[in-house]
Amino acid sequence: MTNITIDTNFDSGNIQVLAVDGATATLAINKDHMSEFAQWFHFRVTGAAGRELVLKITGLNDSAYPAGWPGYNACVSEDREYWARAASEFDQIADNGTLTIRYTPVSDIAWFAYFAPYSMERHHDLIAEAAASEGVGYQRLGHSLDGQPIDYLTFGEGETTVWLTARQHPGETQAEWWMEGMLELMTDLSDSVARRLRERCTFHVVPNCNPDGSRRGHLRTNAVGVNLNREWETPTAEKSPEVLCIRDRMDITGVDFAMDVHGDEAIPAVFLAGYEGIPDLKPDHIGGFNRYEAILDRRTPDFQTELGYTKSAPGKANLTMCTTQLAHRYGAVAMTLEMPYKDHKAAAEPEQEWSPERCKQLGKDCMAALLEWLEG
Ligand code: ZN
Repeated sequence: MTNITIDTNFDSGNIQVLAVDGATATLAINKDHMSEFAQWFHFRVTGAAGRELVLKITGLNDSAYPAGWPGYNACVSEDREYWARAASEFDQIADNGTLTIRYTPVSDIAWFAYFAPYSMERHHDLIAEAAASEGVGYQRLGHSLDGQPIDYLTFGEGETTVWLTARQHPGETQAEWWMEGMLELMTDLSDSVARRLRERCTFHVVPNCNPDGSRRGHLRTNAVGVNLNREWETPTAEKSPEVLCIRDRMDITGVDFAMDVHGDEAIPAVFLAGYEGIPDLKPDHIGGFNRYEAILDRRTPDFQTELGYTKSAPGKANLTMCTTQLAHRYGAVAMTLEMPYKDHKAAAEPEQEWSPERCKQLGKDCMAALLEWLEG
């Protein structure tokens, strides 16, 4: 039986091949450059048409979120458009934690990833299409340490200043799929929700805050191993120019409402995190967050409020994070939206589980919820 071949030398590729025997491969995930985080994988397998692949990703007890593996099924695509799931099983004992992925491809090429990838090429398509839309402004806010642009879109003429940011954590590709859905809606001037929101608000959008980590195939950090979502209190040109240029712009515009979009490795649900622990929090201020959360919960089965993070105690918030810093610094109603790698348990979909299509729909639902929040 001939050996399969595994490739990773492309945008956001990440896997180390330890051994190959026929259609069985022993693999490991490379750490983010200059950091200890490892969880994102993305690779291509060739030469396995009609044979059952057995792909063993080892060493996962040392990954960033070991709790992410039980109950997780790897994402697989043969056409790079439609992403389904391949049955996967986690064994905590074998080879320091092993995820075994089994899949029989119909064709000779199959792609595997932690979640459906969102390449920098697709990012540039997204930005170009949005920037060419009526009433949409574009600026290059700055650049990353690898010299990639921090792309920034603006639209709308209203008084409420809305900031939407995504992919501070590059392996959380859900976040840019969310952006694609949101922008599809908001650049469609025949859509009544988009029209009304653009009358009420001015939008400031950064669809990818971490292009270097995205291209390098990182889970969580930029080109020098920095977790950008711990840089919002004191961003620097040396370590976190991505955050520095965004926050500098926010200092000019102010922020009334902000959503920072992420993915969570372990929790099988979509949820929001707020800013309960910021200093001197007023009941009215957190009331704005609670009201938005309740509206979104009512509007879509792809959201829930039972599973999520433990809320910070009063005064104990970590102000280095985007959401807490924006709530503290500008008095914004700010929130972190988390989407799963597994499935959204409350409305499970066995074939695709949580998918790019559902990320995009959630982007649209979040905008409809914003309009209701503003007019409620
Ligand atoms: Zn994140």
